[in-house]
Amino acid sequence: MSLPRAYSVKAYSAADAKSPLASTTISRRQPAERDVQIDILYCGVCHSDLHFARNEWGFTQYPAVPGHEIIGRVTAVGGGVKKIKVGDIAGVGCLVDSCRTCPECRAGLEQFCPDMVMTFGSSDKHLGGGTLGGYSQSIVVTEEFVLRIPANLNPAAAAPLLCAGITTYSPLRRWKVGAGQKVGIVGLGGLGHMGLKFAHAFGAHVALFTSSPGKAADAKRLGADEVVISKDEAQMSAQAGSFDFILDTVAAVHDLNAYVNLLKRDGNLVLVGAPGEPLSIAAFPMLMRRRSFSGSLIGGLPETQEMLDFCGRHNIESDIEMIRMDQINEAYERMLRSDVKYRFVIDMASLK
Ligand code: NAP
Ligand code: ZN
Ligand code: ZN
Repeated sequence: MSLPRAYSVKAYSAADAKSPLASTTISRRQPAERDVQIDILYCGVCHSDLHFARNEWGFTQYPAVPGHEIIGRVTAVGGGVKKIKVGDIAGVGCLVDSCRTCPECRAGLEQFCPDMVMTFGSSDKHLGGGTLGGYSQSIVVTEEFVLRIPANLNPAAAAPLLCAGITTYSPLRRWKVGAGQKVGIVGLGGLGHMGLKFAHAFGAHVALFTSSPGKAADAKRLGADEVVISKDEAQMSAQAGSFDFILDTVAAVHDLNAYVNLLKRDGNLVLVGAPGEPLSIAAFPMLMRRRSFSGSLIGGLPETQEMLDFCGRHNIESDIEMIRMDQINEAYERMLRSDVKYRFVIDMASLK
């Protein structure tokens, strides 16, 4: 097999699980017939980037280039590309390819395709090695996995929609969250603040559970009708048995049972947070009220475009703090201290 022609770009990578990220050079393939080449303007910083850079999920290949909330300007397209043209603002999320033929792909649920290719951390079938993410100057992606960004959205504040947005939008839609329901969002970080905005936009009564009392005022501004301090047992027990749906975005090991106890009969606790260690659930609180516990993984391409279009119509963006590429290690430390308001976004011009 001959490898496609490639070009070099600057990037930031982790050399191993313990080293800080540092400047490097990586290869990208030259765009082929169905490919879109994007000059990356902004890349959001997801907690998954940190889990991956530090091998907390156990499958990281090094050097690792994280980043899957990518917004940029299209600089070249292959001759067969139809939906995007040179000069457009375009987005790339957590997926860059899939098999296109399995039942999951045919259902538009590419995230569950057995052969899905993640933006970082999968095998790169074009250039070999692992796929390399958005902490870089440019990326080349097949057009089916490139998203259109509504023109009224600020491109930097739209970047986090590509992961934090779809990861919260998808379960709220799947479980039909809306008016007349009491909904909880656990954790006010990147995912949590988007979960608040969507649950509020869908018309639910929304409670934010936070371990950081100082975030209460922001939570109300972002769409919470009430704020519960999760470390306060009296506040937690006052909510027992009252929720239809709770979305848990916490990035670390924590007590799920505290949230199971807050569900009504047939209520559902959905986990999107992805700590590397197992979490435990007590049997009886699940049995007694026929409660459910589920997981959810990002969203497929059609639903991601639907979410972006919804955000365009409702002017929903992420609340961001812009950083330079060389501030990424400090940003990771702040993320671990739950000190993010509410998504870091890298200004990729700082990598030039
Ligand atoms: P983040 O910005 O760091 O937010 C996580 C929030 O969880 C924190 O701000 C904090 O909120 C709360 N928290 C953190 N540690 C806690 C602890 N020990 N106990 C209680 N609460 C704690 O992270 P993110 O980018 O939103 O990502 C959250 C998780 O979702 C990560 O594990 C990430 O890998 C995962 N994820 C999953 C998917 C998916 O498809 N399922 C997609 C993207 C990300 P408070 O200060 O309000 O308590
Ligand atoms: Zn992510
Ligand atoms: Zn497939």
